[in-house]
Amino acid sequence: MTMVTAGRALAAEIRFVEEGHRVFLDSDRHCFTVVSDSRPGVRYEIVVVRQGGWLRAVCDCPAGRHAKAGVQTACKHGAGVLRRGAREGWARWEDGRWVATGAAAA
Ligand SMILES: [Zn+2]
Repeated sequence: MTMVTAGRALAAEIRFVEEGHRVFLDSDRHCFTVVSDSRPGVRYEIVVVRQGGWLRAVCDCPAGRHAKAGVQTACKHGAGVLRRGAREGWARWEDGRWVATGAAAA
């Protein structure tokens, strides 16, 4: 698997915040949605998956689909969701990647 470098992930996160995106949590609390800024009315679904001790956000936007195919790309939506996780205490940025904290659901 290709890992997104820390620099790219951080850049995506900053872009997400600067563009004023908001993350919505679905009622079942398993999936997040972010409204697209370039395609009106479109929402992307982001699922946070655990791989070992670390966290990865899987997004269904075009960049996220590339990432699933193994192309190295940083999806800003996933970065924004994990940033929210850091605020809520279930994710932590550590050694260049996101890790699950003790507060994270299995
Ligand atoms: Zn995305």
